[in-house]
Amino acid sequence: VLRVSDVRKRFGGHVVLDGFSLDVHEGEVVTVIGPSGSGKSTLVRCVHQLEGIDGGAMYLDGELLGYEIQRGHLRPLPDRRVAAQRGRMGMVFQQFNLFPHWNVLRNVTEAQVLVHRRAPQEAREEALRLLARVGLAGKADAYPRMLSGGQQQRVAIARALATHPRIMLFDEPTSALDPELVGEVLSVMHDLAHGGMTMIIVTHEMSFAREVADRCVFMEEGRVIETGAPEEFFDEPVSPRLRAFLSRFS
Ligand code: ATP
Ligand code: MG
Repeated sequence: VLRVSDVRKRFGGHVVLDGFSLDVHEGEVVTVIGPSGSGKSTLVRCVHQLEGIDGGAMYLDGELLGYEIQRGHLRPLPDRRVAAQRGRMGMVFQQFNLFPHWNVLRNVTEAQVLVHRRAPQEAREEALRLLARVGLAGKADAYPRMLSGGQQQRVAIARALATHPRIMLFDEPTSALDPELVGEVLSVMHDLAHGGMTMIIVTHEMSFAREVADRCVFMEEGRVIETGAPEEFFDEPVSPRLRAFLSRFS
């Protein structure tokens, strides 16, 4: 579904992604862990095209993201085509980023209507179905400030799902939540994973990362240091850096 190939990203002179590569296959759940500042958020922001890249390439279903080749030259895509590509991905941020002055229903329907040109009635039905799926059937008319952090994050997940994304990108979706609210969000993500959704999940929740993943990635200084199936990755890490990182969590 997604191919990230040798991607480089700098902020000024600071190299944040240093030849990062990752393939995510249909239905696969990849969890990404790594120290603060290792480039995890930058990675998902680049995939979602909130940031441009300085080298390498990314493909969604084989289609080059963000650029097109014209007469042998790479050119940035026009905004509307970038928006269309972005519309095929769902992103969930640490800070839920709901629109505070819109109710839950409108937060979940807006992109469907604007980007995907779905009829309002159809968008509404889809939104209500998704809200029920994330356990918020009764909250369509509520405003974000009336909801707990865990509820807001579940709305954000419903919103991301509403456009039927090919892949869901999560950037530490539970790290802004009070501890007692983390479980309800992880449980929704578990259900999605079991339902066959293709996902990249950046998280500090180690036991969740292990349970839900088909494959785990440890990144440091903008590179993949180690990747593997969760059992080997967590129980028999090869790289000393991953070993040292994991020892901080046990
Ligand atoms: P955390 O676990 O704390 O969320 P992270 O792995 O997500 O960390 P990033 O947010 O991707 O790390 O940041 C990687 C590096 O890039 C950091 O050194 C950060 O200061 C830098 N950085 C990120 N965004 C920008 C930006 N917009 N401008 C300049 N530097 C940036
Ligand atoms: Mg981050």
